[in-house]
Amino acid sequence: MSNFYTPSEQRKARQAHRCSYCGETINKGDAYDYQKGNWEGRWFESKMHPECFTDMCEQGDGEYTPYSNERPEQGVAA
Ligand SMILES: [Zn+2]
Repeated sequence: MSNFYTPSEQRKARQAHRCSYCGETINKGDAYDYQKGNWEGRWFESKMHPECFTDMCEQGDGEYTPYSNERPEQGVAA
């Protein structure tokens, strides 16, 4: 079974969301990364702060435990 993701989209929050990565709020009006994926046959959607998305990508394989990661500091150059 393969896991895959669609390319991420940059969206602007029209309402508050919860970040799939760190569990903190994505405020209304803020940019966030939206991605749809298939994990072992189940579709899921993720919404992440841009810095959380970057952090997740840097982990390499895209695996993470939802809502349990530390939110990276904003504005830190990758
Ligand atoms: Zn986050």
